[in-house]
Amino acid sequence: MKRIAVLTSGGDSPGMNAAIRAVVRCGIDKGMEVYGISRGYEGLLDGEIRQMDRNSVGDILHRGGTILKTARSERFRTADGVKKGAEMLRTFGIEGLVVIGGDGSMRGARELSQHGVTVMCLPGTIDNDLNYSDFTIGFDTAVNTVLEAITKLRDTSSAHDRTTVIEVMGRHCGDIAMYAGLAGGAEAVLVPEVPVDINEVCRRIIEGSHRGKLHSIIIKAEGTEMTSGELARLIESRTGKETRKVVLGYLQRGGNPTLNDRTLATLTAAKAVELLYADSTSKAVGMSQGAVVAYDLEDALTMPKEFNQNIYDLISILSK
Ligand code: ATP
Repeated sequence: MKRIAVLTSGGDSPGMNAAIRAVVRCGIDKGMEVYGISRGYEGLLDGEIRQMDRNSVGDILHRGGTILKTARSERFRTADGVKKGAEMLRTFGIEGLVVIGGDGSMRGARELSQHGVTVMCLPGTIDNDLNYSDFTIGFDTAVNTVLEAITKLRDTSSAHDRTTVIEVMGRHCGDIAMYAGLAGGAEAVLVPEVPVDINEVCRRIIEGSHRGKLHSIIIKAEGTEMTSGELARLIESRTGKETRKVVLGYLQRGGNPTLNDRTLATLTAAKAVELLYADSTSKAVGMSQGAVVAYDLEDALTMPKEFNQNIYDLISILSK
């Protein structure tokens, strides 16, 4: 393979730049030409494709966001859109593509691969909802951001003897809430995978208060059945304790990537380039139990995500 390209797609995540850098520099090191496609599949359809050199990815390793920009593309979701995308790559003589994004981006990559393009997918999303990789690029940074927020909110919650509901990202996967609860300490963690038991949440808050706890932190993933406003009102009316909600929102997407995210991004990107260079078939590249892994796209997309009941139970034990 002589000419490859890289794009970022879906929601941005810290570490995407580290992955772009590794794709470009490893590709050039192997004697390939590397192109950057702006704004994901949307930019592909518009032909926003430029050649990258080693310098074009200088000074980005430590930065959040993505220098290639990202997008969600409705046009690319159609059969016609995918066909046009493949034709655009052929026009530029690009034989292999690295797609950095979430599960939607991977579905798009699978469609593209059926038009004769070899696609390597990297797990670029803060959600940690890709089943084939233990962690996704950006997840660690996002959880660290949440931990920082918990520390600050705990100070003010203690000062006012208050309950704080902290809403974090995660529409279908509660991993950000779970790991933040595990590492940050929370009276309860609410995730989309488990039905909300409001009686249990209130019981823990009241019991904690009787034991002399000055504050209660409830971490709620955005995909749980109640809004954080409804939840805060319900908790306040049932426990009689002042309850506030804080929605962390997009700040979880930003910031300098952590060591874990830079490492995951760099190692998986290097592997993706190696596979393209070796004329492999399309693959999803991730990390499992400390090793880089690569699966066929179909297998990666259909792997079931297992809910980590152990962590969920441990959070309850630790908050007693
Ligand atoms: P995040 O986890 O941050 O939401 P994502 O990659 O899952 O990232 P999506 O918006 O679901 O984000 O997908 C990104 C893009 O991938 C879509 O805007 C669309 O262009 C493309 N895509 C998704 N599903 C398909 C599909 N079945 N066929 C073709 N393209 C698709």
